[in-house]
Amino acid sequence: MSVQSLTVAEIYHTLTIHNSRFTTHDSPLTTLKLTFLGTGTSQGVPVIGCGCRVCRSTDSRDKRLRSSVLITAGNLNILIDAGPDFRQQMLRAEVRHLDAILLTHEHNDHVIGLDDIRPFNYRSGQPMRVYALSRVAGEVRNRFEYIFGKPIPGLPRIEMIPVEPDVPFQMEGLCIHPIGILHGKLPILGYRIGDLTYLTDVKSVPSAEMDKIRGSKYLVTSALHHEYHPTHMNLEEAFEFAEQIGAEQTWFTHISHQMGLAAEISTEMKPGIALAYDGLEIDF
Ligand SMILES: [Zn+2]
Ligand SMILES: [Zn+2]
Ligand SMILES: [Zn+2]
Repeated sequence: MSVQSLTVAEIYHTLTIHNSRFTTHDSPLTTLKLTFLGTGTSQGVPVIGCGCRVCRSTDSRDKRLRSSVLITAGNLNILIDAGPDFRQQMLRAEVRHLDAILLTHEHNDHVIGLDDIRPFNYRSGQPMRVYALSRVAGEVRNRFEYIFGKPIPGLPRIEMIPVEPDVPFQMEGLCIHPIGILHGKLPILGYRIGDLTYLTDVKSVPSAEMDKIRGSKYLVTSALHHEYHPTHMNLEEAFEFAEQIGAEQTWFTHISHQMGLAAEISTEMKPGIALAYDGLEIDF
């Protein structure tokens, strides 16, 4: 069944009916894998020149590249966000092919690695499918103007595909549900794939979008640090949100060095909630 042809009301109906296993009917019969490629906020951890305990820590969980995850479904590799550490993340996770990139928003820590998709273009002979809100697609076109001009051999090749919060889309049989969330006042996207919801840079979730997230067995959501921030949830807000959703397991990502040492903050977590770390892999 093509979800693209459904009206918003029908999609909600579908979501309600299948809430226990969400979109099982259009998910592939394979285990999905989530790999955290980066779990740091925009400057990463350690921060350049910072001598704080976290930035000097030798614990591998305190080394956080910019936030990004890889979702693997059979042979399908989908990346969420391509920040400044994209190249290093692809090498570290030994990603040999990439089928698509889903962008959450246009901030540099989520898009500026796009030039480095070239090896994937060369290997596949295809442009990279990049899904984003149309505003975000416009920002990508501005920031990478040379990619979208006259075709020159050796340049990255991108096919921008616009997405909207209320229009799920299919990728090789996998149904992806964009979720409209707020990064301060900026509308951005999270994504739900089967039992997993991935949100980053979230400050608030409009109540109409909460229904798309509820019933997720696994939730990834951002928690910056302990203090108030106008465009990001802090740890306390993230706990509150995680409890509202009530996923079996929640992981926090997009973490600042100001959060504290992973070893110490982990002891402050609640049942079913954990700090994510780079390299963490989950089957779902
Ligand atoms: Zn960010
Ligand atoms: Zn520091
Ligand atoms: Zn941001």
